[in-house]
Amino acid sequence: MPSVRVVHGKDEIPIMVRDEEPFFVEKWSDVETGNEYINEYYLVFDFREGLLVEIAQRLEGSIGGISWEVTPNRLDLESLMRLNDSGSLERIRAKVKEIMQRLTENLDSLFFDPIGDRRRICYVCGSDALHECIRCNKDVCDQHAIFAETEYEEPLTYCHECFWRAVEE
Ligand SMILES: [Zn+2]
Ligand SMILES: [Zn+2]
Repeated sequence: MPSVRVVHGKDEIPIMVRDEEPFFVEKWSDVETGNEYINEYYLVFDFREGLLVEIAQRLEGSIGGISWEVTPNRLDLESLMRLNDSGSLERIRAKVKEIMQRLTENLDSLFFDPIGDRRRICYVCGSDALHECIRCNKDVCDQHAIFAETEYEEPLTYCHECFWRAVEE
């Protein structure tokens, strides 16, 4: 059963899905030199560039060689028909789908709640508190805060309770 390989970048982010077996192996000979060559066609899905075909070429009997990529629409009809018959498209598509699904599921956890932990609530009514009483240090909302000033025009924020207590003192 042919399998696919997922290539990860740093941070384990998938960047490419590649078929492990070529969907087409083509042998040809160079008329001038008489050398026999083998071209192997692999289907690749690149998460930035989309679907590509990697063509790996080597001299028969040797290891290593050169490779390049083409978009599928640059393939000739024979290669396309081999691609179609190989099941490679379905295989890669299923893998890419699975990865996309997993990424989507993880999306919520990746996008942290920027207020979350720092959200404070008014001790009187429970709504968002943006202020803190200078006396009791409790959190208070706009409605349950009283803004005053010192004689030197320094702003002071009290909760109602502490404000009235301060006034009575
Ligand atoms: Zn309140
Ligand atoms: Zn207070």
